[in-house]
Amino acid sequence: MIAFGPIPSRRLGLSLGINNIVSHKICSYSCVYCQIGITKNMSVTRQTFYEPGQLYENIESHLKKLDPEHYPDYLTFVPNGEPTLDLNLGKAIRMLKEFNIPIAVITNSSLIHDQHVQADLMKADWVSVKVDAVSESIWREINRPCEGIELKRIMEGLKVFAADYPGKLNTETMLIDGLNDSDRHLQQTASFIATLNPEKAYLSVPVRPPAVRTVKVVSENKITEAWQIYQQSGIHTELLTGFEGTDTGFTGNAFEDILNITAVHPLREDTMAELLKQDKTNGKVVDSLINQGLIKSVSYSGKTYYIRSYHF
Ligand code: SF4
Repeated sequence: MIAFGPIPSRRLGLSLGINNIVSHKICSYSCVYCQIGITKNMSVTRQTFYEPGQLYENIESHLKKLDPEHYPDYLTFVPNGEPTLDLNLGKAIRMLKEFNIPIAVITNSSLIHDQHVQADLMKADWVSVKVDAVSESIWREINRPCEGIELKRIMEGLKVFAADYPGKLNTETMLIDGLNDSDRHLQQTASFIATLNPEKAYLSVPVRPPAVRTVKVVSENKITEAWQIYQQSGIHTELLTGFEGTDTGFTGNAFEDILNITAVHPLREDTMAELLKQDKTNGKVVDSLINQGLIKSVSYSGKTYYIRSYHF
């Protein structure tokens, strides 16, 4: 299956997925948290999977079947593996532009030092790059790269790409308990991401069964801490913890406002007090959400924050 969806996505609205890799996963990484299992077919060699015309025809016929209200906001390359392994990625993006729908690519960044990969990604309107670690040993432990890839070259490639990319650049960092969540490493990762000047940096946690069953999700305290560290580095940061949130502010429904905002970022006690005031209610709503296990209060730097609870 080449085209699938569209699927609602907080980052992209309605996103029509494109699987530009053949059915079995081919990836340059075998991340411990991968939701599609261990990578049996590892590669760093770009190759032809589909002719761009094949992708075009498949997506065209998929789009024709959609009613107007399900027409996608983005066509997103999010395959069974790493999309930049596709030698025809750039040609395919150029052809798909004819549909006048913005194109997104979610890449693990491992080939970003390659000028041809950069040139292909430049054609996309929205790119998400993976930055789980900036320490060689931690990167190896989490992403378990194919032989022949070097973190140093990836980081250099990311800087070059970010400096020239005219579209919307986003980063994504998966936080894993005990691996990349020390204060020191979070600071180092945030400092590096700040040099890329992304539109947004997303912090995520594994919400589906990981390839390696010993992988543990970080605590709500830790994700609040990571969010603070990223914010303090001047990065616009949002959380991706499996909840759809909107950060739309005060709508008059405190219950929904709190759930929406805390899905995107932790809510500080003074902002929470203001929200309750604007929504003309009181702390009972917060107590009720905590008692139902929907949000959690955490302490950071002498302040109380509220965050969506994702530990069930
Ligand atoms: S880069 Fe993506 S597809 Fe590849 S192993 Fe990691 S999570 Fe899975």
